[in-house]
Amino acid sequence: MDLGIRGRTAIVCAASRGLGRACAEALAAEGVNLVLNARGAEALQKTATEIAAAHGVQVTSITGDIATPEGRAALLAACPAPDILVNNAGGPPPGRLNSWSDDDWSQALSGNLRAPAAMIAAMIDGMAERGFGRIVNITSSVVRHPIDIQGLSAAARAGLHGLVSTLVRGHVGHNVTLNNILPGPFATDRLISNFAFRAKQQGVSPDEALAARRAELPAGRFGEPGELGRLCAFLCSAHAGYISGQSILIDGGAHPQIL
Ligand code: NAP
Repeated sequence: MDLGIRGRTAIVCAASRGLGRACAEALAAEGVNLVLNARGAEALQKTATEIAAAHGVQVTSITGDIATPEGRAALLAACPAPDILVNNAGGPPPGRLNSWSDDDWSQALSGNLRAPAAMIAAMIDGMAERGFGRIVNITSSVVRHPIDIQGLSAAARAGLHGLVSTLVRGHVGHNVTLNNILPGPFATDRLISNFAFRAKQQGVSPDEALAARRAELPAGRFGEPGELGRLCAFLCSAHAGYISGQSILIDGGAHPQIL
């Protein structure tokens, strides 16, 4: 299926690897030009070069921390009027309620709530004026299915879901949609680092903890980032203008729903 977005431009935040990169790749495969962000310049530039070579689109890399006003300003200066915005950032650390410091709270809220909110605020009105906009937030399945060690992630991301829900009805009539993708376990660096924490708690090796988790999953495997990337590309497509305000779980059937 041609997604009808060839020649459009997307900002993809936190995109040098993992799920952000997968979203960037899936959009590039549809002919979308990209402006990518991450903190590490070398990895980001390598990703940009690889995607441009593979798909023949323009890819600009802007190094910066999306959790800071300066990082966001640099991105917006490079691309003030994108058609597509994919919000993503590193996830908060796992832990327990009494283990997170004020700094941990502040970083989680900056990266996972304030940053996407500020990016949306900077571009949603322009999208509405131009009559096309697609905003996708990468959040987490913990918003719907709590995980004991992911309370900080759940708290920050639930705030974003709440905010997004208030923006949908005022913008869908201008062909601007906002949706959240809620990943379950995907095979990325983030998953490995979370399992290092879990393994320590359980007194096993990270590989043993990963294998035990994999065995519990009904799909018998972790998600592949490309599977999430292609869902994101569809939500950003010309065909998805009637899908807005949705939180779409992608977890290999781990949490079936009746309604
Ligand atoms: P990952 O493999 O660790 O990749 C994170 C990417 O984000 C990297 O490109 C990283 O590059 C960039 N990044 C991190 N913090 C940033 C910041 N402040 N500003 C700009 N770029 C930043 O992580 P992932 O697994 O793709 O996860 C992406 C998001 O999905 C996270 O919020 C994670 O919590 C969430 N999630 C993941 C899973 C999973 O199973 N993988 C499940 C549920 C939710 P730099 O380090 O160079 O900045």
